[in-house]
Amino acid sequence: MRPLRSDLVILSPHAPELAPLIPELEAFRRDLHAHPETAYQEQRTAGRVAERLAAWGLEVHRGLAGTGVVGVLRRGAGRRIGLRADLDALAMAEANDLPHRSRHPGRMHACGHDGHTAMLLGAARLLAARPEWRGTLYFVFQPAEENEAGGRRMVEEGLFDRFPMDAIFGLHNWPGLPLGEGGVRSGAVMASADFFHVELVGRGAHAAYPHRGRDPIVAAAALVQALQGLVSRETGPLDAAVVSVTRLDAGDSLNVIPERARLAGTVRALDEGVRTALEVGVRRVAEGIAAGHRMGLEFAYERRYRTTVNDPHQAALMLAAMAATLGAGKAHDDLPPTLGAEDFGWMLAACPGAYGVLGNGTEGRFAAGLHNPRYEFNDALIPYGVAFWVNLAEGALGEG
Ligand SMILES: [Zn+2]
Ligand SMILES: [Zn+2]
Repeated sequence: MRPLRSDLVILSPHAPELAPLIPELEAFRRDLHAHPETAYQEQRTAGRVAERLAAWGLEVHRGLAGTGVVGVLRRGAGRRIGLRADLDALAMAEANDLPHRSRHPGRMHACGHDGHTAMLLGAARLLAARPEWRGTLYFVFQPAEENEAGGRRMVEEGLFDRFPMDAIFGLHNWPGLPLGEGGVRSGAVMASADFFHVELVGRGAHAAYPHRGRDPIVAAAALVQALQGLVSRETGPLDAAVVSVTRLDAGDSLNVIPERARLAGTVRALDEGVRTALEVGVRRVAEGIAAGHRMGLEFAYERRYRTTVNDPHQAALMLAAMAATLGAGKAHDDLPPTLGAEDFGWMLAACPGAYGVLGNGTEGRFAAGLHNPRYEFNDALIPYGVAFWVNLAEGALGEG
């Protein structure tokens, strides 16, 4: 593992410099948790972030991708580094009964973006006060990470034109990984996530006279089976990919062959080439099965989230910052990639960078999976995350 620059003064998660800030960040995080806002609705959240950044002397830009916020610290010539957090909550009900539980039925911070926002704010606060570094730091608070690809919209609305960066970094808490540990790997870390919708149009008939109709249920069953071949027979055994049919419905009566069957599902891959081959394959198999069963076909394929791929050099830098912050043996370069999706992929496709994880803990609601109604971001992670961001920022500014 490469070391971080030797002249850096590493900030410990337990440093006296950090301690006074932690109660304020915890309170901030719990306030966001109590008032979750979903994709592009993050008005209150963005307002509170912008207010803090401005109070600490940062230049604040609002309105990119609707509710996005960018805070800027400039200290003369030098490298330009972006650090990114996400602001949004999920449309789901919280099952925890905590004092700061969600006040909004059907909305919940179940992915820990409340914690990501608090940790990046803490880093901005400390970096504004630390005297050593030179260059430009961008603190990117993006909306709508869940489902609506706010990261993509930020790029499309000119994030990197308005705020040119040499590198950008993203971070996610990771339930089940011990507190005080982290990981980042080179190459693909999160998958693409696409959706397909198929409607097979046959001809309805009395169930006792199937030869007078064209049965879309038999065709749908054949299609579900045939789709399994795309991963098992057409994708390289070492290429990760998923094709899952997640919806299947047809028919109302037990003695009627219906006219239509609908099915839908998701396609995941860690490589854009594999992703495109699967898109072509799903369409080809649907057309083939439909033709073979004399079905009409309505087919739609939605390319939703692209792959998230870390730049090797920036991933090594991030790993070094993690090791410097957490200690030897606590920063892992071998955590497996996942076939979940993340919209930071669009930022990494436009700018070199890396995306890593920090452990949210191994117990109770801190180990409940992301998007679980009993999950919660672990406030004990805040000092680790803040110190990591500070060390990474100062390390990255001194590169090259
Ligand atoms: Zn999520
Ligand atoms: Zn998330």
